[in-house]
This record gives sequence, structure tokens and C-alpha cells, in this order.
Amino acid sequence: MVLLFLQLAMCLCLTLIYAEPPKIQRFIHARLVMDDGMQEGELWVSQGKIIAPQNTADEIIDVQRKIVAPGFIDLQINGAFGCDFSINPERIPEVAKNLLQFGVTSFFPTVVSLSPEQYRKILPKLQPSTFDHRRAANLGIHLEGPCFAHQYLGAHNPCHKPLEIDGLQNIYGDLQGVKLVTLAPELPGAESFIRELKSNGILVAAGHSGATYAEMKMAIGWGVGFTTHLFNAMKSYHHREAGIIGAVLLNPQIPYSIILDGIHISAETALLCWKCNPEGLILVSDATQVLGLPDGDYWLGSMEIESIGDRVCLKGTRTIAGSKLHLDQAVRSLHQITNCSVVQALQAASLKPAQLAGLYPIKGTLSVGSDADFLFLSDALQVEATYIQGECVWKKD
Ligand code: ZN
Repeated sequence: MVLLFLQLAMCLCLTLIYAEPPKIQRFIHARLVMDDGMQEGELWVSQGKIIAPQNTADEIIDVQRKIVAPGFIDLQINGAFGCDFSINPERIPEVAKNLLQFGVTSFFPTVVSLSPEQYRKILPKLQPSTFDHRRAANLGIHLEGPCFAHQYLGAHNPCHKPLEIDGLQNIYGDLQGVKLVTLAPELPGAESFIRELKSNGILVAAGHSGATYAEMKMAIGWGVGFTTHLFNAMKSYHHREAGIIGAVLLNPQIPYSIILDGIHISAETALLCWKCNPEGLILVSDATQVLGLPDGDYWLGSMEIESIGDRVCLKGTRTIAGSKLHLDQAVRSLHQITNCSVVQALQAASLKPAQLAGLYPIKGTLSVGSDADFLFLSDALQVEATYIQGECVWKKD
């Protein structure tokens, strides 16, 4: 017995002496998108994390002066490549792999308005990822609905709107894995609902709402910290009643998302957002299963949709039903429309969503200690390679 113990101890000592040290990668000649601007320099990576510069490296990668930026984080994506998270959530790993080509390294699978029974069936299958690291990470569920204003439902099924907002569990069941909920804060019962979500550590967004300016300001006091797809599916701006739009554009501390696909809002409206509240602007795709597929008829939750050209609508109507937008295209459009810096455009899809979702400084940054999820981009902001935990997981042909 004693001999066996000694042998085991000796084996352990030898393993410790001869164990391979962690591999160190050094990326040279990079233009790094740091939190405070672009910087020429090097990036050092080990064990999936960005580390401080060392004396030696096991591998040197010449970036050839490409832009190196933190990976994109999509806070609102309903599916892609024929998978709708509200219909076939088990196909989420497939989507997570296909998103790498658009520079998306993390995302929040978004579920449209469903019935209480459907939430209980779908949500357990969308839990934050345990996928292998060669796919974009699922960081938590975004529940978009069903507590929406009747006149601003957009493409959401009116059958799933609850008669009253009464208890989180009654509507969603278990909230495990839920990170973001979009609701109309002016509905009766919203205050306690918002406070309960907040106390569960869940970010609450206003959206699909007819809230007035005063109602929105009050909701911010209750805990609303974000606005989903500003301008779409909400009360229009009126010169005597500024609504949510006025509240967001006049208050730089309120972050908001826009869908910059050339369909949801015009270029002028995007420019207005940028001029009024550039700090708060976050790019989302709101992509549906149509992303990556040809024109045709599809489903968004329980609603039939049709994809024609760049537009996705409820079938037979002009009601917009999500998008087929690549998030990297939204970054390029923001840069082009607003003439903002490359760094600002990239941060609207990386640093900003990471800060909002409480993921910063682990994600959304290239600072020492953060996850080594980053992209190589051309000067035209085309994604050329995607890295997750320091490993190249996608490369342009
Ligand atoms: Zn929506």
C-alpha cells in the first residue's frame, strides 16, 4: 500500500516537472481596436485569454496590418440558416457555427411571443452554451414578448399577449438562462414585473410599446435599462409627445438597439440616432431563420413570413418580420451613414453590447484578461478571420 502511494506520488511529481507549459501566441503587426481607440501593436494570447506581452512565444502570427477587433455580440437574433429558435431550438449549435463568418462570437438567442406552454418546452433547450468553443457562444436568452402593447405587436402573434401581466412564472415558467426581456412598460402590472425581473438579475428593455415620454422615464426608475429596436413597433415621435423615442434620444445614458438593414429605419433616421445619442447606440441583427437562405416562405415562431429581396414580412402584408441582416453589414452601414470612426462602428457591435449585458471586461474588449474572441478585418470592415479563445474558427477563402 505504502509502495503504491510512493509510486503514485512520484508519477505526479514527474507529471508536474514535465507538463507542457501553456502555449503562447503572439500576433504581430496588428491595428488593435482598443477601448480608447486604434493602436498599432501586438496581441498576446494564452489559454484562451489575452495576456500581457511575454519574453517568448510558441507561435508568431503576422496580422499584416489588418484591423483586429473584439468579436461581435448580437443581442437579438431569432435564428438563421433555416433554424428558428422558437421552433427548433435543438439546432442552435448549427446556427452558432454559421454565425462565425459574420464576425459574431457571442449571441443572445431571441424567442418571439409564445404561449406559456411553449415557453416551458422551448426555454430549457436554449440554455447558455455548453457547445465546444469552435462556435459562437450562447450567452443567455432574450425573451422578446409577449407583454406588448396591442397596437405595436408588429410580427408577434396577438394570441400570445397575456390578458394581464401577472407574475413572471405564470408567463414564462422557469427563468433559468434568461438574460434579457423586452416588454411594453406602460401596461398595467408592468412595474412589479420589471422590478421582479431586475431582482432576478435580468436586463429589461422597453419595446413594442406605446409608452409616453413620462411613462418611459418612470419605467427607467423601475429598472428598464435598454430599448429594443428604436423607432420600430413603438409610438412615433410627436412634437407634443416625444414618447420612448424622445426619451432615448435626449438621454445618453439610455442604450438602445437599431436594425440597420436599410429596411427597418432609413439612413437619415440612423444618422439622427447617432447625432443625438451615439453612446447608447447598439447594433443588432434581429435576423430570422431566413438569414443565409434564398427568397421564399418561412416561419417566425407561429407566424408565416415571406422573404423577398432584403425584406422579410408577415406573409401577404408589408409588416416587417425581423431581418436577414448580417451583423458585419450593420457595422459597415453605421460607418458609412454616420461617418463615425472605424473604432466607434465596431464598438457598436462589441464593446457596447458587452457593457450593457454586464459582460465587460471579459468580452467586447482586447484588454489583458479578457476572452481571446477577436476578428481580423480589412480596411473596408470585411471580416477575414474569426478567433474564439485564441483559435481561428473561421477564415475567408
Ligand atoms: Zn421586435
